[in-house]
Amino acid sequence: MSKSAAKKIQAIRGMNDLLPSESPRWQFFEAKVRQLMHRYGFDEIRTPIVEQTALFARSIGEVTDIVEKEMYTFDDRNGDSLTLRPEGTASCVRAAMEHGLLHNQTQRLWYQGPMFRHERPQKGRYRQFHQVGVETYGFDGPDIDAEVILLSARLWQELGLLEHVTLELNSLGSAEARAAYRDKLVAYFDQHHDVLDDDSKRRLTSNPLRILDSKNPAMAEMLNGAPQLMDHLDDESRTHFEQLKAMLDAAGINYVVNPRLVRGLDYYCRTVFEWTTTALGSQGTVCAGGRYDGLVEQLGGKPTPAVGFAMGIERLILLLETLELIPEEALGGCDVYLLPMDDNATIVALTLAEKLRSELPTLRLQLHCGGGSFKSRMKKADKSNAPIAVLLGEDELAEQAVTLKFLRDDREQLRVSQAELSATLQNLVPH
Ligand code: ATP
Ligand code: MG
Repeated sequence: MSKSAAKKIQAIRGMNDLLPSESPRWQFFEAKVRQLMHRYGFDEIRTPIVEQTALFARSIGEVTDIVEKEMYTFDDRNGDSLTLRPEGTASCVRAAMEHGLLHNQTQRLWYQGPMFRHERPQKGRYRQFHQVGVETYGFDGPDIDAEVILLSARLWQELGLLEHVTLELNSLGSAEARAAYRDKLVAYFDQHHDVLDDDSKRRLTSNPLRILDSKNPAMAEMLNGAPQLMDHLDDESRTHFEQLKAMLDAAGINYVVNPRLVRGLDYYCRTVFEWTTTALGSQGTVCAGGRYDGLVEQLGGKPTPAVGFAMGIERLILLLETLELIPEEALGGCDVYLLPMDDNATIVALTLAEKLRSELPTLRLQLHCGGGSFKSRMKKADKSNAPIAVLLGEDELAEQAVTLKFLRDDREQLRVSQAELSATLQNLVPH
């Protein structure tokens, strides 16, 4: 075998394994999300991870970062161009249309799963990352905009994050109002052509609104003087935005209106918003969304108003960790380590473990497997992090009893009969 063939194969850059030490954090977050969606009356939708490339090109927009340079696109064996989904909205619309979920109905959907973008990997930015998103269809009033924002706010509240995030809000107006504004903006940028960086010059013809998004400090002053979309809204969009703000005010949700918030995807109209934090450095947006009334029609369906958002799970978990907001008890481990001391005891221990699992369905019990010396068995019990070891040796077998050993606190060990064991554990283990 050649040297290179023997080299260990590693994961793809920017695509992470989620190790057992980390997965309890994800489970904690995911459980909160699932419960919340249930409470707000949202139904889960799961779509394939791969779609036809045209779906994303047509929905996200040809001249966006995602479609221009971030998609994982490849030819299937039969020559079809396929793409690993870079986001969830397009797939959701595709599935909802395909299965008739939009015809004379309203929908409140949510999803969760991996997304793929070929970006430069760094803290909070990966090539495979995960999002939770919601998408609603068939509601044109600002009440649903408020509802999805309130849903996200409640998630922050329940995670202890609300005081660490800021809601930024803007309105992009109707497609027509935006087109008129676009002309004014291009005229302004033309006057300041010397200040524009290369990226912006390129966008001047393709997607000038995105220039407003630029973080280039050399352009900051020029951008501050640019005409504002907010001053060019159509009347209906203005009313919609005013009503949304009134609803958020009534619900006690703080926000800042950020007239430069335009979002990177083409399909948004009217409401756009982002939840941002300063605790994660430059990857500070943890949730982003808005209204996209034109997308269903753009993809060949009947005009259907739509609102949604997506949050980045990695960034939220990073934030929870940074702020130490994940409760100790969510971090897993087991309650009891059941430890047969020899092979004779193993068969009794197996049936005893099953009996306990039937009687105490919330008990987390790990059965010692794999034999070993007394010393190594005790070491494994300790490593399990369980507060209680249940020992089953020769003496215990003879008496149909067990010995309870308390591994984390200074407490006398206890001998109890096997018949009484589940009652005893019920008292000792809090949940
Ligand atoms: P950014 O400006 O940070 O690139 P975006 O506008 O491209 O974000 P969206 O497409 O709106 O992001 O996705 C919604 C959320 O998904 C983001 O706010 C972020 O939390 C998360 N996200 C997006 N791209 C990545 C990535 N490459 N790695 C990790 N999380 C991501
Ligand atoms: Mg991006």
